[in-house]
Amino acid sequence: MKNRPELSSWHISTQLSMLGRSPAQQYGFVNPPVYRGSTVIYPTCDAIRNKQAPFSYGTAGTPTIQSLENAWTALCNAAGTVLAPSGLGALALALFSVTRSGDHLLVTDSVYRPTRNFCHTLLARYGVSITFYDPLIGEEIDGLIRENTRAILLECPGSQSFEVQDIGAIVAVAQRRGISTIIDNTWATPLFCQVHALGIDLSVEAGTKYPGGHSDLLMGMVSANERHWPALRQTYDALAMLPGAEDCFLVLRGLRTMHLRVKEAESRGLEMAAWLQGQPEISRVLHPAMPDCPGHINWCRYFTGSTGLFSVVLDSRFTRQDVDNMLNNMKIFSMGFSWGGFESLIIPFDCTEYRTATTWRPGGLTLRIQIGLEDMADLKNDLVAGLARLRGE
Ligand SMILES: *Cc1c(COP(=O)(O)O)cnc(C)c1O
Repeated sequence: MKNRPELSSWHISTQLSMLGRSPAQQYGFVNPPVYRGSTVIYPTCDAIRNKQAPFSYGTAGTPTIQSLENAWTALCNAAGTVLAPSGLGALALALFSVTRSGDHLLVTDSVYRPTRNFCHTLLARYGVSITFYDPLIGEEIDGLIRENTRAILLECPGSQSFEVQDIGAIVAVAQRRGISTIIDNTWATPLFCQVHALGIDLSVEAGTKYPGGHSDLLMGMVSANERHWPALRQTYDALAMLPGAEDCFLVLRGLRTMHLRVKEAESRGLEMAAWLQGQPEISRVLHPAMPDCPGHINWCRYFTGSTGLFSVVLDSRFTRQDVDNMLNNMKIFSMGFSWGGFESLIIPFDCTEYRTATTWRPGGLTLRIQIGLEDMADLKNDLVAGLARLRGE
């Protein structure tokens, strides 16, 4: 199951085809089998006393789990990866692995809301204090660092609001002050942002999104650089919160086509964002690859592509009732949380109620849109009809 040494010299699409499988060890079959199991049987007393076996017990890993861990480690150019049963679980693992009682943590105000909740509730109960910061703070984050600041959590771009952070500036400050950095890299995936190469210590991906790609599973990954890998693995081993074998198998399968899916998401996302920018009902498009997005310059610096999720701000004249009229009657776009699957989604959102370090005042009601794999003309027609309902026609 070990990755082949020549892998890193190949193009990412070749790597995705090869990672985490080894036909010679699989009776020639292309894909690895699904190992399910708790108990591992040892042949002798000596072997069980010294745990002399490649695998010791289900919670400590299986070939299926290891295949996905190794594949993700290679994709991220990391020292190691642990898996979690959800993206939120992966964020919890990453945060538990760097913080301890008495620490102070800096968290971007644009963070995924359940992550914010985790910090407020569990982490706070374990004696970790939290300061939320403006996602666009850049090197001025230095001013927020206290003697007990242990880590900075970034999310890039911000959930729903899409601010793109100055990863390089924040990492430079963190490294100078001896502080760990964690990023939620779910939107870009390692295909479009190689965060460890930028100096990030721990990177979290909701495998639920593009790696799974079909809205039929939950998965989280945390990859670490050399310095942070031992603590991350130790935290994972202590908790034994791991995903099921079927879900690992499905994410491994998802990896084979992930480059095609995210590239398609990119071109469709850009086409739709540009089209929406031209509609009179839309006052602003928040898409990291477009100049109107807060922190667009940082996207230019640190990212090699964009994906299929972005937001729009509606003209200020529209009311909540107008939005209800639009969204309640969409034919192809459906409403639901999550994204990264094959289906197009649209949801209303509002960051005003929970932001603390910044004020969310976009100047109109806001919608988040995920572009799926349906025909673009059909999708635009669905939006044309929706915008007419928005106008009350
Ligand atoms: C969905 C999401 C998560 C959490 O993933 P789950 O598997 O749903 O827990 C974390 N971060 C971001 C940016 C997400 O979009």
